[in-house]
Amino acid sequence: MNPQFRRTVQTTCPYCGVGCGVLATVTAAGVEIQGDPDHPANFGRLCSKGSALGETLSLDTRLLHPEIGGIRTGWDQALDTVADRFRETLDRHGPDSIAFYVSGQLLTEDYYVANKLMKGFIGSANIDTNSRLCMSSTVAGHKRAFGEDLVPGCYEDLELADLVVLVGSNTAWCHPVLFQRILAARRAEPKRRIVCIDPRRTATAEAADLHLPIRPGSDVLLFNGLLHHLRHNDCLDFEFIERHTEGYAAALGTAKETAPTLPAVAAGCGLAESDVARFFRMFAATERTVTLWSQGVNQSTQGTDKVNAILNVHLATGRIAKPGAGPLSLTGQPNAMGGREVGGLANQLAAHLDLDDPRHRRQVQEFWRSPRIADRPGYLAVDLFRAIGEGKIRAVWIMATNPAVSLPDAHAVRRALSACPFVVVSDCERDTDLARFAHVQLPALAWGEKDGTVTNSERRISRQRAFLDGPGEARPDWWIIAEVAKRMGFGAAFDYRSAADIFAEHARLSAIAGAGQRRFDLSGLQTAYDDLAPTQWPVDAGHPQGTPRLTFDSRRGRLKFVAVRPQPPAHAPDADYPLVLNTGRIRDQWHTMTRTGKTPRLTGHMPEPFAECHPADGERLELTDGALARLESRYGSALARVRFSAGQQPGTVFIPMHWSESNSRHSLANALVNPAVDPISGEPEFKHTPVQLMPY
Ligand code: SF4
Repeated sequence: MNPQFRRTVQTTCPYCGVGCGVLATVTAAGVEIQGDPDHPANFGRLCSKGSALGETLSLDTRLLHPEIGGIRTGWDQALDTVADRFRETLDRHGPDSIAFYVSGQLLTEDYYVANKLMKGFIGSANIDTNSRLCMSSTVAGHKRAFGEDLVPGCYEDLELADLVVLVGSNTAWCHPVLFQRILAARRAEPKRRIVCIDPRRTATAEAADLHLPIRPGSDVLLFNGLLHHLRHNDCLDFEFIERHTEGYAAALGTAKETAPTLPAVAAGCGLAESDVARFFRMFAATERTVTLWSQGVNQSTQGTDKVNAILNVHLATGRIAKPGAGPLSLTGQPNAMGGREVGGLANQLAAHLDLDDPRHRRQVQEFWRSPRIADRPGYLAVDLFRAIGEGKIRAVWIMATNPAVSLPDAHAVRRALSACPFVVVSDCERDTDLARFAHVQLPALAWGEKDGTVTNSERRISRQRAFLDGPGEARPDWWIIAEVAKRMGFGAAFDYRSAADIFAEHARLSAIAGAGQRRFDLSGLQTAYDDLAPTQWPVDAGHPQGTPRLTFDSRRGRLKFVAVRPQPPAHAPDADYPLVLNTGRIRDQWHTMTRTGKTPRLTGHMPEPFAECHPADGERLELTDGALARLESRYGSALARVRFSAGQQPGTVFIPMHWSESNSRHSLANALVNPAVDPISGEPEFKHTPVQLMPY
């Protein structure tokens, strides 16, 4: 290559839901990565993971050719095998005997085609996603409160707010660029305050003005107490409540009943009364308040109620979709939001339309010209793998995710997969924990090799652009799905030439949905796909440049308070399993480390799995700081190195979620985690499993 060669491409980071813009410059020596100064999510900033992207592009561990039974084959044979087995399973056992399990790592175009094939052509809603594991409680909470899965505000609000309340979110490590923006805003205006509500004293809590180390699972009590306090102190916006909402009286009544006094709230949440009082006073006094939350709220058997408890206080104060004021959920993955838009969840249709509405089903079926349309929800993630284990699902296609590592009760998931008659895996990586269960492996393009779009946590659609040639025989996910669809006999509906074709179809469908009063609407998007600048939906005739903040108009339906009662987590600690296990991310790793594990710059931060516990627990359990320990739950066991930390509450233990058997034998975090789920959202309770911890 010419040593002078340089080519810069504007793309988007493939990791978290912040969705930072990246400039990737291809040179003769490799790929240089910089933050994109023009991208409104990050304005040039990148975190450690994003900055190291150029060091993670090696092909050593890639799946480069289709394989059947671990033997290399050609695309024709692999695709025919998949299509024939799906067709045969469909004919013999019906549509609900087939399932797709997809991923927030997929691009919107991939997601759209997978959802279309399953819901419109196979005719089942058995397509669920690993986004079920990170933000489905928020989707359910949004739908209950807003009638649709809407994020009212935007990132700019974090810089305009005088108070930022972070709930169940180690933003400093998990969404670092947004946290940098929050800190920069406080530096610019020191009267701004940050409150962190989290059982652990995380890096986020360290930087906050007030940390509330809440008892795990007691968030509903705290926010019910706040609603009661706001009413008692005459801090509500009754004009907003009357004009825009319904259900206020019932929600307030339940809040008063369940959180009658400040001492009762403090005792129930395990907090000092003075800290709770200070938080309530700060919230009451600060018009410009943003409450931001992520997995500490969502990953709970009461996740949906927790979301609504937060939304209730914003509805009651009218602090919603205003500059510097509103609720804001942070998605974990780069395209969790895009998956929600195309309906890539087992209880959604497409373009925010509803599976249980016959009119919506007819609209989508007519648009797709499909022979059938799913008419009831499919299995949600945890139940989907249970159904595989029970023999109800006989063929599954897993795309861009590794449920053998990431689902709770991971050993049960592995048993289910080993008993499944037909498992297809599309992935970039070859030797994962999941690959051993695959009958067919299909090589997919990775970040930097493929084109498409992603949507970040503030509804902003950005382009991912290819700057590298696809290696080996790897292909885009949308192409692989469309080829299988054609070979199953659904050709005309899947005759796409590019990701741009698919995005155009997705936008046309959104226009139909938008006309039916859905807010998800791309009908005003005039820009050519190649030139698409980061844009927040809805993009309609009234908002051709996109919409930073939604407006709420009673003609679209009233916003709803939801009366929520505090409930304990599914499983309480007992004599056999006396500690509460909480799992989460660390700063420099992403998911199962297939990409971030490739560079010493990132692996050096925390090089091995650890179990963090309070020193008093450690001494009582005769553990040694730095020595190996064994964790056991009713579901499995794991090894980790003990770290004593005064920031960990007594009676609790934290382990990171990233390690698995393929990168560290015997340290599979989700082998321990209970499979209890939120009854509304289906999101698992990753943050609360009783365990015991003992010297190894
Ligand atoms: Fe990527 Fe998230 Fe870091 Fe931004 S904050 S660079 S999107 S990992």
